[in-house]
Amino acid sequence: MSRRSELAGQAPAPTPHSYQENGLLSQTDPKTARIKVLKNLYDCLQCPAYCCSYTRIDVTKRDIARLAKHFNLEPDVAERKFIKRVDGHKALRHQKDKIFGTICQFIDKKTRRCTVYEARPSVCRTYPETRRCGYFDFLSWEREHQEDEDFIPYELG
Ligand code: SF4
Ligand code: SF4
Repeated sequence: MSRRSELAGQAPAPTPHSYQENGLLSQTDPKTARIKVLKNLYDCLQCPAYCCSYTRIDVTKRDIARLAKHFNLEPDVAERKFIKRVDGHKALRHQKDKIFGTICQFIDKKTRRCTVYEARPSVCRTYPETRRCGYFDFLSWEREHQEDEDFIPYELG
């Protein structure tokens, strides 16, 4: 059974990032000062959450407080549990992953969805901040040319 088929019929799971939730991005038209609603050119529901495998997913004090509240923990406990230091920056800890090697600890590795969607850090809410996602372009191109809608380039096994 394909990954997409496995996911079909399950309750809708949150996507990693807020912009992808409705597939729309708002921009102000400088000529009219009106809000233009543009459709994004990527679909996180078709992606194995590549961006959640970035080594450094930065968190702020506010992000830690939000995660602490979500898990009913004191902020210092949440920080010790969920946060690591990368190049001197506070970032989300990882877990092992068969696709990308490691990935954010909060990904459900079967569904490839965020398990702390309501409490995810601010960077996860805004990424990639444009209508395009480079990884999704690459993924789509490969899937089309491999004639396999579930193909994942460089999957580790
Ligand atoms: S918290 Fe982790 S799993 Fe959730 S969107 Fe951010 S990087 Fe992805
Ligand atoms: S890599 Fe791109 S398409 Fe995939 S989850 Fe992240 S933003 Fe969405």
